[in-house]
Amino acid sequence: MDIPSLTIDAIREGLLSRQFSASDLATEALRFAESENSKTSAYLHFSPQRALATAQCVDDQIARGEDPGPLAGVPVAIKDVIVTKGVRTTCGSKLLANYIPPYDATAVIRIEQAGGLVIGKTNCDEFAMGSSNENSAFGPVRNPVALDRVPGGSSGGSAAAVAQGTAVVALGSDTGGSVRQPASFCGVVGVTPTYGRVSRCGLTAFASSLDHIGPFARSVKDAATLLRVIAGRDKCDATSAEAPVPDYPAMLDGKVKGLKLGLPREYLKGLTSETGTLIHRAVDVFQRLGCEVREISLPATDFAIASYYIIATAEASSNLARYDGVRYTFRSGHGDTLPEMYRNTRGEGFGAECKRRIMLGTYVLSAGYYDAYYLKAQKVRALIARDFANAFQEVDAIVAPVSPFPAFRLGEKVDDPIAMYLSDIYTITGSLAGIPCMSVPCGKTAEGLPVGMQVLTGHFAESTMFRLADAFERTQRT
Ligand code: GLN
Repeated sequence: MDIPSLTIDAIREGLLSRQFSASDLATEALRFAESENSKTSAYLHFSPQRALATAQCVDDQIARGEDPGPLAGVPVAIKDVIVTKGVRTTCGSKLLANYIPPYDATAVIRIEQAGGLVIGKTNCDEFAMGSSNENSAFGPVRNPVALDRVPGGSSGGSAAAVAQGTAVVALGSDTGGSVRQPASFCGVVGVTPTYGRVSRCGLTAFASSLDHIGPFARSVKDAATLLRVIAGRDKCDATSAEAPVPDYPAMLDGKVKGLKLGLPREYLKGLTSETGTLIHRAVDVFQRLGCEVREISLPATDFAIASYYIIATAEASSNLARYDGVRYTFRSGHGDTLPEMYRNTRGEGFGAECKRRIMLGTYVLSAGYYDAYYLKAQKVRALIARDFANAFQEVDAIVAPVSPFPAFRLGEKVDDPIAMYLSDIYTITGSLAGIPCMSVPCGKTAEGLPVGMQVLTGHFAESTMFRLADAFERTQRT
């Protein structure tokens, strides 16, 4: 069994034709993932009991002649900010190093009901804050394509696992780019669905109005299949949408003729690097496929990073208040009074980036600064959303870069938070607007580093986004 080359369809075929059982596959996938993990540290821990139990259910269903579900026997990795009942969930933080959740995230429940095998939890930046996976309390992840480089962040472990072939698909979380950017750095597909498309129940909150769960896969079709499984209304998340979930994979017919694509002027003006060349080449491909391409403008783009780092830190400062040494697991052994215990627990438990964000967020929400910063940032957010709404009156989708540069070296940007924040420049706008956006591989630099192209559409128009990405992907296979 060649684990790294498996697809969802190949697994289904193998199971139904009795070439292998789901239990064999689970055992082999776990063995392979554990043996490969020392190269990248993509996983923080594995969940063999869980994977083997689901595999047994799948085998029983097949033996009874029942349909084992759309993810039957598929090894899935889950970012460690998504809770798993009975399986440690650390959020990449010392504060939760031994935390064992009492319930499962809705997305995880749906994956297992569809026959997916949860094989392990992946490394990530602490509480999903970062762009390089260097903010994990348990050490960085290495990019499987170039081991001296970062995999991107904050879902670096999930992207690396899929790129390395130890999982067929994975879940990440995206608040300002944390699925698309690592997907681009590792050369895999990464999807941020419409805000509300996937339940956030069980996703540890970073910035609740921006947090999304999203799939990673090695093909657009596999990502579309995973999204279909996890999407849809969930009564445990009041912000999850009622909108019906289309059969995304069934809609991938390679036909995109006549679709109108917008190229945002603001995204391409500074992009003279190899990334720019690859994006322009991808646009040519779309034109050959019959798409109509026109330049568009998203004028509020310049203010996106400032607005995001105010809104996200404000929400984070509130969401992270719960880690107080009383609830959850870690408590400092120092301090005689309650305030001292709080201070020491948080001082010892949080890493530098989380502390920076708590301070920033508390500041922008404080009396006197609220109007000047937080309120203004919310107004900018509305302008960014309006830019997109105007653009989608004219075009069906927008094509853009994911990151201004490919994977950088470990350590290259750790001491410069502003440089790190700037790497989110093209992903943050889609997050602020809550629209679906994804990264699909569009080539490699001369050094062999993967580059991703971003496809964005209007709210709940994931089908169009997938159709475009899939049509492009087909042209790259030959
Ligand atoms: N890099 C961004 C940040 O650090 C995005 C993180 C995310 O999407 N979770 O906030």
